[in-house]
Amino acid sequence: MQFSNKVLVLSVLAVASHGVWAQSSALEVDVSVPTTASASKAVLARVTLRNTSAQPVKVLKSLLPVAGQSSMLFDISRDGQPLPYVGAVRLRRAPVASDYLTLAAGKSVSYSVDLREHVDFSASGHYTVRYRVESPDGDMSVLTSLPRTVWISAAPTVRSIEAASAVSQMTRSFGGNVTFDGCSAQQREDINAAFAQARSYIRNAVAHLENNNWGTVRYTTWFGTYDQARHDELLGKMRNIRDTFENETITADCGCNTSDYAWVKPGIKYRVHLCKSFWPAPVAGTDSKAGTLIHETSHFHGVGNTSDIRYRQDRAQLLAQRFPERAIHNADSYEYFSENNPKLD
Ligand SMILES: [Zn+2]
Repeated sequence: MQFSNKVLVLSVLAVASHGVWAQSSALEVDVSVPTTASASKAVLARVTLRNTSAQPVKVLKSLLPVAGQSSMLFDISRDGQPLPYVGAVRLRRAPVASDYLTLAAGKSVSYSVDLREHVDFSASGHYTVRYRVESPDGDMSVLTSLPRTVWISAAPTVRSIEAASAVSQMTRSFGGNVTFDGCSAQQREDINAAFAQARSYIRNAVAHLENNNWGTVRYTTWFGTYDQARHDELLGKMRNIRDTFENETITADCGCNTSDYAWVKPGIKYRVHLCKSFWPAPVAGTDSKAGTLIHETSHFHGVGNTSDIRYRQDRAQLLAQRFPERAIHNADSYEYFSENNPKLD
């Protein structure tokens, strides 16, 4: 590969105001939609990324709407009202070379995506669709398309995401239930150990917030400048995670074969899909199995309603310093505060 990761990241940064990547990083993104569609069938959008420069450009594949792999890539609103994303949110490992697509000079690549994977079209109306991703690096720049509008007639909402499950088994541990879907004996053992550690982590996190109504080093490292209202909102969400572990039935789904750590659909409570990077992770510590369970659980609606704003410790810390009001909505910030590694007081 002729470009270092740094160059790749840069190519995702600079963006001009109307969907064209600036200068050396001249990537252009466009979305096309039909004028009308019915939500009883696929609502297909076509996303095209074009390299308008004279140099090859590398693009993180996770920024592409690959079927069955998509994440939060669109801003979609109905009659001016932004709609919540209902698709999968994935905890990805750090990108490696194979996670990038190389787009040769002048070339483009297109994807068809069923927008029903992204939002619920539960009411008829004018829907505005815009591809929009933030730079995966530390700054706040975005790659965005022009908005496109489609009239969609609503269909009754049918959720059919539950795959026919193999053997389901239930074990009771510490009060909360964990059920297993398609997990081997070894995997069940690993998951039980991870949940035990995760419960211990989250109790400690809640206790720290309850006992410290001020900006401890631990608090400010992950959530920035102390603010009473933010502290209280955070504490409420941390308690929700604890209560979910202690009172609800969480389903560990071992049928995921992607390189992610894990993923959930925030509205499908409480199914956590565990993927290839989960199994070799340590039970405790940074980016551990236990931390992953806290991260994923924080995404669920009514628990933490978190997003993946910044991944990884260094970026989560930067987010806390620069945008503390966003850090309390970032799943990895919950994970790192709870893992507390290295240990902070
Ligand atoms: Zn996540």
